[in-house]
Amino acid sequence: MIYQRPKGTRDILPGESEKWQYIERKAQEVFKRYQYKEIRTPIFEHLELITRSVGESTDIVTKEMYDFEDKGGRHITLRPEGTAPVVRAYVENKLYGPEHQNPYKVYYIGPMFRYERPQAGRLRQFHQIGIEVLGADNPAIDVEGISAALALFSSLGIKKFKLVINSLGDKESREAHRIALLNYLTPLADKLSPDSKRRLKTNPLRILDSKEAQDQPLVADAPSILDYLNPESKTYFETVKEMLNTLKIPFEVDSNMVRGLDYYNHTIFEIMSDSKAFSGVNTTICAGGRYNGLVEEIGGPNIPGFGFGSGIERLILALEAEQEKELIDVNIDVYVIGIGEKSAVEILKLVEHLRQIGLSVERDYLDRKVKAQFKQANKLGTKFSVIIGDDELAIGKVTVKQMETGYETQYDLKDIYKNPAEIFQNLEHQ
Ligand code: ATP
Ligand code: MG
Repeated sequence: MIYQRPKGTRDILPGESEKWQYIERKAQEVFKRYQYKEIRTPIFEHLELITRSVGESTDIVTKEMYDFEDKGGRHITLRPEGTAPVVRAYVENKLYGPEHQNPYKVYYIGPMFRYERPQAGRLRQFHQIGIEVLGADNPAIDVEGISAALALFSSLGIKKFKLVINSLGDKESREAHRIALLNYLTPLADKLSPDSKRRLKTNPLRILDSKEAQDQPLVADAPSILDYLNPESKTYFETVKEMLNTLKIPFEVDSNMVRGLDYYNHTIFEIMSDSKAFSGVNTTICAGGRYNGLVEEIGGPNIPGFGFGSGIERLILALEAEQEKELIDVNIDVYVIGIGEKSAVEILKLVEHLRQIGLSVERDYLDRKVKAQFKQANKLGTKFSVIIGDDELAIGKVTVKQMETGYETQYDLKDIYKNPAEIFQNLEHQ
């Protein structure tokens, strides 16, 4: 019996994990510039929080939850997304209080869980980087959030994407549109795909997002939400577009774009890629928008919100498709090579010392011959080798070799202990 990882999960092995660290580092840098601070919430939550926030009739809640009863009889779910947990933390910790920043701006990085059919860029445990901003109903926040997402893409070197936006309006606008949509779709019910037919009763807006070929001609002629925005909603959306123009951020408006989560209103956006990483199929890498009712919905004050989530697996696919050179070169500072048995204790001590002063250092543990040790050193991309031979050791000397140029020179061992940084620095310029 060979154990296998559960379907839709992945092991992120060394070689790959460096890419994750790279993305996380870039995200941290970008979010520092935009002044979002990191928040970490549990990876499981009470199921009720998610059904309440994301919506009873959404795919996430109806078919994709990893939920279970814990030993205390609580109905728990692994979090399928990042917004509801952050908003829960915001309300529970009263982060809207006067001692906190307002608006409250956070980012998160971590795993999410959805029981989906796995394929390229679609997993059951996947990872998101996201932001949430709570406390400001200002189009500048929407535009700042979009700009932060784009800044993340550009800092990673991803260039092939487009920004698509839409507005779902406020409650009133959305209700007016829902009625128009029902009036239009109900007589056509028999022509809809089975999924969409079901959604007609539960979540008609979601039909606009259908990927079924059968639904496409019907969706194309459906009433557009943009025609049902009331004056306030219209003004809000116009301002968002103006601000994007002011910042020269290119965008498209897709009036049929909706989101798979119920809490959104006003501005929504997606960053999509048709990169070869996704076999040319337009794929959403980042998605988000405004959610003005959510804080209240889960028991907090009437406080507006805005956020986005971006899938790290999809960021990596896009990144790799555009990358010309290897992202990460494995590199260590020093490889300590031993010749002869008497060097063993000295190697133990020197490796320890060099690591303590902050260098990244490796050595042999497998009694390899000298030639094989050099081979290892090269494989690891070592800058310097320190060669400790029995004969040299007897007179207190070691040889340091600069691997790239092959230049080598002898030093007193005690100088290596005393001034390693200086010695390596000097050698770097040889
Ligand atoms: P999709 O339409 O692709 O299912 P979604 O609308 O369900 O996406 P969101 O809930 O908005 O996605 O999540 C935001 C981002 O998280 C997506 O754009 C994507 O990058 C990523 N994501 C969502 N679900 C998955 C998944 N199962 N595997 C990998 N990444 C995912
Ligand atoms: Mg989905």
